[in-house]
Amino acid sequence: MLIIWGLRVIYRTLGQGVFFCRRCGGDREYRHRAGRRYVTVFFIPLIPLAKTGEHVQCLTCKTRYVTEALRLPTTVQMQVALAEGARALVAARLRAGGPASPPARRRAIEAVTATGGPGYGESALNADLAEPAESGRTKIVALGGQLQVQAREWYLAEAVRIAMADGPLTSAERATAGQLATGLGMTQAQAIGVIMLTEQGAGQN
Ligand SMILES: [Zn+2]
Repeated sequence: MLIIWGLRVIYRTLGQGVFFCRRCGGDREYRHRAGRRYVTVFFIPLIPLAKTGEHVQCLTCKTRYVTEALRLPTTVQMQVALAEGARALVAARLRAGGPASPPARRRAIEAVTATGGPGYGESALNADLAEPAESGRTKIVALGGQLQVQAREWYLAEAVRIAMADGPLTSAERATAGQLATGLGMTQAQAIGVIMLTEQGAGQN
């Protein structure tokens, strides 16, 4: 009798959730899997061999990534962090430049609203200003510490894209992006590079 031997990788799912898929360019469902090779006899896996390592697969485009892909923040996490970062920056600037000035307050509220903080107004601004000056700065630095270098760059690029939603970067927006970069722990050169690339990229869309 002829025995049909074969080799096959069997996967088991370790977890699932939502991650940022670079290929899709957005938040997608993923499956985190580990594989193991088996020798099959008549197509039935019988003898386990070496493990093939883990991967994360996008359920939309089927692209496989190394598990480190899960450490990149999702777009939603990014937006939350971005809005928090913007609030912290704006509060810090207002504290330094006179928190009672109506035009400055209006600009601050506009700046936060523009970076994805709808519903932000006078009372929310007062609450932010009432926080200890260091806590905002700490928030930004803590955020930067949690992010991988790649994620910091992505975060900054996202901030620049949002700032450019209404036209080319103003010098104030450029300065804010620079402060954000510093808070995130990026060097000046890194920041300038990311901002420039993002501006060029936006021109091509
Ligand atoms: Zn994908």
